[in-house]
Amino acid sequence: MIAPLIDQPVIDEVKDCLTNTGWLTSGPKVLQLEAELRILTGAPAVLCVNSWTSGAMLMLRWFGVGPGDEVIIPAYTYSATALCALNIGAKVVMVDVKDDFTIDPAKIRAAITPRTKAIIPVDIGGWMADYDAIMELVYDAEVRAMFLPSTPEQEKLGRIFVVADAAHSIGAHYKGRPCGLCADATVLSFHSVKNVTTGEGGAVCLHLPQPFDHEAEYKFLKAFALNGQTKSAFEKNQPGAWRYDIIAQGMKINMPDICAAIGLAQIRRYKEELLPERVKIFERYQTGLGKHDWAILPTLRDKHQSQSSCHLYLLRIKNITETHRDIIIQRISERGVGVNVHYIPMPMLTLFRNLGYRMEDYPNTYELYKGEISLPIYNGLKDEEIDYVIQTIVASVCPPPTPPLRGRGA
Ligand SMILES: *Cc1c(COP(=O)(O)O)cnc(C)c1O
Repeated sequence: MIAPLIDQPVIDEVKDCLTNTGWLTSGPKVLQLEAELRILTGAPAVLCVNSWTSGAMLMLRWFGVGPGDEVIIPAYTYSATALCALNIGAKVVMVDVKDDFTIDPAKIRAAITPRTKAIIPVDIGGWMADYDAIMELVYDAEVRAMFLPSTPEQEKLGRIFVVADAAHSIGAHYKGRPCGLCADATVLSFHSVKNVTTGEGGAVCLHLPQPFDHEAEYKFLKAFALNGQTKSAFEKNQPGAWRYDIIAQGMKINMPDICAAIGLAQIRRYKEELLPERVKIFERYQTGLGKHDWAILPTLRDKHQSQSSCHLYLLRIKNITETHRDIIIQRISERGVGVNVHYIPMPMLTLFRNLGYRMEDYPNTYELYKGEISLPIYNGLKDEEIDYVIQTIVASVCPPPTPPLRGRGA
């Protein structure tokens, strides 16, 4: 269970949009949100869009990915990671994950072909993928020699493009580096269930190597995300600034100001207030559940200064079957606690089964999935509520034995 944060600062910021600026589509609030995101992530350029999915499609199209190309993704993720590639005609190559739920770099190496144009690692639950290993792979001489550039951008990068699925990981760190500075492009989601929301929305953080010019790429992408139009309605609204051009066959995926306002009120206190509160909830679960030998806890941080953004709490129960897990979830639900499973691996879903993906090819993904239960984590969750969730989980995993049936006269 997840509840979006709608409190007074959010209401005030939206009200400002409605009654003060009077501007609803992309305008000043979007620019402010982009500035806040540059500060938070350290990325030299950030573009707000209307969802993670459209932001990922934007970046794949920018790189010239399309029919005949392959995009490598983990089998363990939300389907949007695959759909952004499928929807532009590319082929999705799924690989298995490691025990921390993130894509296995060794498996990526085996999946790379001359058609591979992009890799989309996923920061599951807010725990970031192993970007050093992934970047090392794409810079590997043998892998680079295989890469066949077919657009100016591909020519310029000269290797496989790494786009982070950071739908969960805003504010997370990988080896001391913030989410936004670990891949070539990092795509955030501001969907209503995420750590920071704009209702629906997303953002692309650019972190391209030399000789890419971030300002020029931002300017191009901003137009590309607005039907290829060089000026937004806001810019055209300035006196004498009516003339514009359409420079490319773009998409229509810009973020409205009314949405940016919601996100702006959250992002301003995300690092100091909202994120630490999530970490505290996560730690309370770690302490409460860590006492039980049947619990496999998710990772919060490690000795290399990596830290999760605590988007999800992915608890695993040791040595149980999928059916047993489902029974435990039923017991938890009957006690009034909203739990969930993140995620049903894509090869188990009809679309992907019909496309020929098979669960047997991703044994570790299935192993993680079959014992996984996602616990409630959101800003405003109280200590007593967390403790009740823990008690409920414990009682549902190890229910008191039912008294033996006694025969007559016993
Ligand atoms: C939510 C989510 C997305 C999609 O985000 P939208 O903003 O809804 O497009 C992509 N990947 C993962 C892992 C997600 O959880």
